[in-house]
Amino acid sequence: QAKAQGRSRLQFWEAGMQAPYSERMQIEADLRRALARNEFVLFYQPQVDTVSGEVRGFEALLRWWHPQRGFLSPAEFIPVAEESGVIVPIGDWVLREASAQMAEWRRAGLPQVRLSVNISARQLESPDFVESVMRAVQVHALDGQQIELEITESLLMRDFEANAIKLGRLSASGIRLAIDDFGTGYSSFKYLSRFPIHTLKIDQSFIQELEREENLSIVNAMVAMGRGMNLNVVAEGVETQSQLACLQQMQCHEMQGHYYSVPMSGHDATALLGRHTRGFVEAAG
Ligand code: C2E
Ligand code: MG
Ligand code: MG
Ligand code: MG
Repeated sequence: QAKAQGRSRLQFWEAGMQAPYSERMQIEADLRRALARNEFVLFYQPQVDTVSGEVRGFEALLRWWHPQRGFLSPAEFIPVAEESGVIVPIGDWVLREASAQMAEWRRAGLPQVRLSVNISARQLESPDFVESVMRAVQVHALDGQQIELEITESLLMRDFEANAIKLGRLSASGIRLAIDDFGTGYSSFKYLSRFPIHTLKIDQSFIQELEREENLSIVNAMVAMGRGMNLNVVAEGVETQSQLACLQQMQCHEMQGHYYSVPMSGHDATALLGRHTRGFVEAAG
């Protein structure tokens, strides 16, 4: 898998392989302590309008500063967190942290962009899920529309009836739903149309090999479908100018990827929003 390449130091946990039991127990114990010790941090990756280049939102991406192992990316610890259930309190922290960041941007008078948060299986299945999302939003009196939950299509389909009820309740309070990694799971289009979806995120595997004829047709069809369903269509993993040019031609609304920016610290995201505000003022004046 492309995203696991390179910087991963704990590759033995990936691709379905399991670390030794003792190793997993150690990480699980470390994960439980990590919350109390403030070792998690959110990075933010801009989601940008393909035509105007304006920042429409950010995706919050979790990072872990492990005291011994250093900087860990989600692929290195989310599987253990998920398996052990620690992902539930961690996911709750992510929601609260993302909301706090939104509130800070609002106080600073920065543009009110969208913030997308990834939701895991255990979190969605937790009986407290709807309340924990609502609490995070209400604590800072945020507009629900500013928060978008990213859920993969496979996860949505797994417990269709229960998920439809939960997401329906969240949608009623304005919170948005994005289908993450679209095209890689198994969606039933019949069921898909019954979720209150706002955004379709085309998986990066299609974008990275957009030069290939078959991917070009697939992405074109996905963009057309999304637009036809009145959804906001976001391409993930955009790395080159020529990929962007294809997406512009297809009228894909937004892009996210290294071509525009890698995930950045909250500090850098704040600075980016600040430059944006000035840019708009300069353009207007
Ligand atoms: P995702 O939600 O599909 O996030 C997109 C991933 O693609 C991110 O990896 C991002 O850094 C990476 N990416 C963005 N642009 C490019 C590009 O141009 N090229 C390449 N090669 N990669 C790009 P990251 O941050 O390592 O996260 C991996 C996955 O971990 C995420 O996939 C998501 O499923 C999960 N994850 C991240 N944060 C959280 C979280 O707070 N909670 C949960 N439950 N899962 C999370
Ligand atoms: Mg995501
Ligand atoms: Mg994705
Ligand atoms: Mg993913």
